[in-house]
Amino acid sequence: MKIKKYIVLLVLAVGFLGLAHGAGVRPGAKITTKKINDNFYVLLGGNGLGANCGVVIEDSGILLIDSMNIHEQSHTMLLKAIREISDKPVRYVINTHHHRDHSGGNAFFKKMGATIVTQENVHYRPGDSLADITFKDKLTLEFGDETVELYHVVSHTFNDVLVRLKKNNALFTGDNHATSWGPSSGFYGIAGQVELLDKSISMSDPNTVVVPGHGYLTDVKHLKQFKRDSIEWTQHVMAMHKKGAAPESMIKDSTLLELFQRFNGEKRENFMTDDMMKRRIGYQITSETIKPPIVLWHYEKLKPYLGIYELNDKSLIEVIEQKGHLYIRKKGAYMTELIFRGKNTFELREWPKGDELTFVDKSNKTKHIQLVVEGKSYAGKKISDL
Ligand SMILES: [Zn+2]
Repeated sequence: MKIKKYIVLLVLAVGFLGLAHGAGVRPGAKITTKKINDNFYVLLGGNGLGANCGVVIEDSGILLIDSMNIHEQSHTMLLKAIREISDKPVRYVINTHHHRDHSGGNAFFKKMGATIVTQENVHYRPGDSLADITFKDKLTLEFGDETVELYHVVSHTFNDVLVRLKKNNALFTGDNHATSWGPSSGFYGIAGQVELLDKSISMSDPNTVVVPGHGYLTDVKHLKQFKRDSIEWTQHVMAMHKKGAAPESMIKDSTLLELFQRFNGEKRENFMTDDMMKRRIGYQITSETIKPPIVLWHYEKLKPYLGIYELNDKSLIEVIEQKGHLYIRKKGAYMTELIFRGKNTFELREWPKGDELTFVDKSNKTKHIQLVVEGKSYAGKKISDL
C-alpha cells in the first residue's frame, strides 16, 4: 500500500529505521537512569528500547516526555525504571513527535490514566493518534512547580515538538538533534534545521540540560557544534551535487566521510551503511532543491488554493500553508507537502509518481480539484476557505 511506502520513506529519512519499526530489544540492552535532581530524571534508551525519556516528578504525579518503544520487553523495563524512581501515577505523556520509538508507550500509559499531549498534525496520520491534548504553535502546561513549554517546529516530522522545562532548566530536542546520530535535517532542509537549532540555542544557557532524542545528554555547546557540522555537511553535499556527482560516488569522498563521522558521537564501528548514507544524501539534495510556492509567488497567489475540500467519496481534505509551503492533509490518513509542478498541478511529495493535486478552474477561483492518491482519482470541490 502506498501510504505505507510514504511512512517508510519518512522513517528512512530520519534514519532510525530499526527503532522506529520496533526491532526487538538487543541482548544486554538496558535503560540507563540519569538523575538530574530529586524531581527530574532522564532515562536513556537505545538498543531497540527507543528514544530517551524525561521523567518529571511533582506532588500529583509524573510527567513523561516520550514513552519509548513499548513492546513486551521494553514496557516492563520502562515501567520498572520509572518505579525505581517514584511510585506516583504517570499523569502526562508528551511526545516530541509520532515515531514509535518516541510514542510507542502511549497506549500503555493512557490505559494507566495518563493524558497524551502532542502537536495537532498528529491527527493527520493513519489510525488513532491517541492524543488527548493537541496544540498548533505553542502550549504551556503548569505541572506542579514546573512550567512546561511546548513549541511546534517542522524538520524531522510535521509534528515535531521542542519541550522546555523552565524550573529544571532542560530542553528536549526530539530527533532534530542527536549525540549519536546525524546529520538529521528534514523537510525544510538545512534552513529549517538551522531555524530550530537557533531556537533551541536561544532557549538554553550554559547550565541547560539538553536531551537529544538519542544518545547521551549534552548542552548548548553541542547544539552549536551540531549546527556547524550540519551546515558544513550540507554545503559539501550540495557543492558535489552541483558538480554532477551522484550519491554513489559521494560516499567514497573522504571529506564527506569525515563529515559523516562528526555525528558519530558514540564512536560506533558500523555507524552507517553505504545505503543509509546514499539515502541521507539523496534526501538532503531533495530538501535543498524544493522551492516552496511562497518563494515562487506572492502570498496572494497562494491564498486561493487554501481551504477545505469535499471529495466525491464525501471525505474531507485540507490544503493549508505553513511557512510558505503548501500542504495537503486528511484526518486519520495523511499529510504531505504539495510540490509545484507547473500550471495548477502539484505533486504529493515523496509519494509515487502520478499522485497529484490539480486545481481545475482557470484563473484564481480554485473551486474544483482533481486529486490522485494511491493511484485512485477523486473529484472535489471547496466547501470553505481557510
Ligand atoms: Zn523520529
